[in-house]
Amino acid sequence: MRKPLIAGNWKMNGNRGLAAEMLQAMESSLDQTSADVVVCPPFSLLQSVGECFENTPVFLGAQNVHAQLSGAYTGEISAPMLNEMDVKWCIVGHSERRAQFSETDAIVRQKVGILLQNGIQPIMCVGESLEEREAGKHEEVVVEQLKNGLSGLAADDQLRCTIAYEPVWAIGTGKTATPEQANSMHLVIRNQLAELSTEQFATKMRILYGGSVNADNAEELLGQSEIDGALVGGASLKTDQFPGIITAAKG
Ligand code: PEP
Repeated sequence: MRKPLIAGNWKMNGNRGLAAEMLQAMESSLDQTSADVVVCPPFSLLQSVGECFENTPVFLGAQNVHAQLSGAYTGEISAPMLNEMDVKWCIVGHSERRAQFSETDAIVRQKVGILLQNGIQPIMCVGESLEEREAGKHEEVVVEQLKNGLSGLAADDQLRCTIAYEPVWAIGTGKTATPEQANSMHLVIRNQLAELSTEQFATKMRILYGGSVNADNAEELLGQSEIDGALVGGASLKTDQFPGIITAAKG
């Protein structure tokens, strides 16, 4: 049985006050859920949000990391620095970073490696554009991103990775993949993970869905056999939405 994971990606939003407000709003959801809950604020808020979530079941996550350990990379943050902030998870390969910051599969692979070396669990995003889906290439595109992002990893390292399937056309658009569309892609992903390691390992890995998840659609999406949680953008900033998504996650 896979434990669900709900991760909130604040992107370039939020402030110190939001963590405290969200914690208060999440209180009863955290009591009821069987899910792991992760909040990924911007780098500048890691310290204060981390302090706010101290002694709570909420894990601290980051939205990005540099592929190198240290050096002349102005404005960047390394995996050891995240580790020092007690960051347990880190998103890599988000479609916004792929599109706006030229993050290639090769860079994603380097980031996955550096995170694992530093004890941080990667949440690796994959997903197709609308054009790719309409051209019937969605499965091919996602399989390629998976193979490149995880290439050469030992099976037990692969097991420490979480995959987030995020169709680009569903991110921040209010258009959600249907539960069937999402579940069917998750099955493709799990089969590919089995090819990259073994079926036994692939069965244990969590595959999240991301793309306009909210408190109204979460239960149906999370009820699908292959959907093990959600990566949530916009709704993770809303105190009347994120708690409902957490409550919808049942193990
Ligand atoms: C995301 O940015 O990972 C995301 C899924 O955003 P949203 O929930 O706003 O679509």
